[in-house]
Amino acid sequence: MKIDSFLKDVGGASRVTKARRMSYKNASAIPQPKDPIRELADLLHPDKMRFVVTEVRDASPTSKTFRLESVDGHIPVFQCGQYVNFNLKIGESVLNRPYSISSAPFEARGEKPFIEVTIRRNRPYFVPDYFFENVTEGTLLDGSMPFGTFYYEPLRDSKNVVALAGGSGITPFVSMAKEIAAGYLDTDLTILYGSVHHSDIVCGDELAGAAAACPRVRVVNVMSDDPEWEGEKGFVTKEIIEKYSGEDPTYMFCGPLPMYNFVSKVLGELGVPVRRFRKDVLGQPADISALPGYPAESVGKTYQITVVRGVREDVIPASASEPVAVALERAGIPVDAHCRGGECGFCRSQLLSGEIFVNPVGDGRRAMDREMGWFHACSSYPLTDLKIKIPIL
Ligand SMILES: Cc1cc2nc3c(=O)[nH]c(=O)nc-3n(C[C@H](O)[C@H](O)[C@H](O)COP(=O)(O)OP(=O)(O)OC[C@H]3O[C@@H](n4cnc5c(N)ncnc54)[C@H](O)[C@@H]3O)c2cc1C
Repeated sequence: MKIDSFLKDVGGASRVTKARRMSYKNASAIPQPKDPIRELADLLHPDKMRFVVTEVRDASPTSKTFRLESVDGHIPVFQCGQYVNFNLKIGESVLNRPYSISSAPFEARGEKPFIEVTIRRNRPYFVPDYFFENVTEGTLLDGSMPFGTFYYEPLRDSKNVVALAGGSGITPFVSMAKEIAAGYLDTDLTILYGSVHHSDIVCGDELAGAAAACPRVRVVNVMSDDPEWEGEKGFVTKEIIEKYSGEDPTYMFCGPLPMYNFVSKVLGELGVPVRRFRKDVLGQPADISALPGYPAESVGKTYQITVVRGVREDVIPASASEPVAVALERAGIPVDAHCRGGECGFCRSQLLSGEIFVNPVGDGRRAMDREMGWFHACSSYPLTDLKIKIPIL
């Protein structure tokens, strides 16, 4: 019986293949002026998006939320936890920066679809300074469609999600909390959010609003240096994680590298299987030389990178303490960096000569790429003069 249906399927598949070959053969080389499939694909996956800022508001004393509408009125479908990669020109630098969407997907399906990003500036930062000082209502911004793999997936993840967040790493969970509270995402969510002081809590009102509206959302703020705070104090420790975890959770982490290192050690001690731990480490460490394996002799050095793009070659300076992608951006050479954590592979480039240090956290290179000298510019640091070949944008 099984064999019969297998043969039937094979027969059917070969007929389909034949029909497809025929339609390719008879197809016109002139593109269809109106192709509904192409139009739908463009709406779902636009190459680029142009946004207009329609509102700017404080999300804490050190952070601002920017509401963005798409100029063409359409926001593609996205998941809580995805980010928009903004393309910016600041002075001579041409650069990208990803910001997670802090609004909920249902808010992008209303009559006036919008997304929001929440940017933190607790000290002088290059791109946040630019946003805080230059981006106001009416500003036009170019960016990508929503990207990223850090989202809840019901086929894989538990219906008990424990979010571990630090600083601006709260933004994906703000989106998730709002989507759950509105009844569009079917999971429980406990957020363990580490801040220094209660005045640092980003999007505190929105989180409290979602928790008040829906018992499936629970927010536990943990203050590391706030004597007046009456709730949990210290860091997000093993004891706190165990106390609030419940049964068989999926842990989702978003925050800076030091917190990730700590949390991943704790979850290892608790015996959490790898499939139950999802992470989004926000960008590169402040001091790459502190990572094990970074050669001390490179600290403070500047090298030269010969950048090959097609027939063009440019020689640019590059600090050993900054990723190759930053050297390119500083030199005004466009680089398609998205995740800035070494994972997505958009900035995959070829190392023609020289040595690099690759941040081991989030090293997403394929085994064959490592062997053949391909690297991700966003997470690789020069250790000698380099010659690299990058995609032409
Ligand atoms: C997936 C993802 C999502 C994120 N979501 C959020 C979010 O929701 N909210 C949030 O606040 N942050 C978020 N971040 C972090 C955010 O992208 C920025 O890294 C952060 O705002 C700090 O800004 P910065 O990178 O300019 O910081 P900086 O530390 O000032 O700069 C970073 C790098 O740029 C270099 N640089 C300095 N000057 C120049 C120049 N002239 N030209 C080119 N490069 C220069 C610096 O040397 C440094 O190497 C996210 C990061 C990732 C990876």
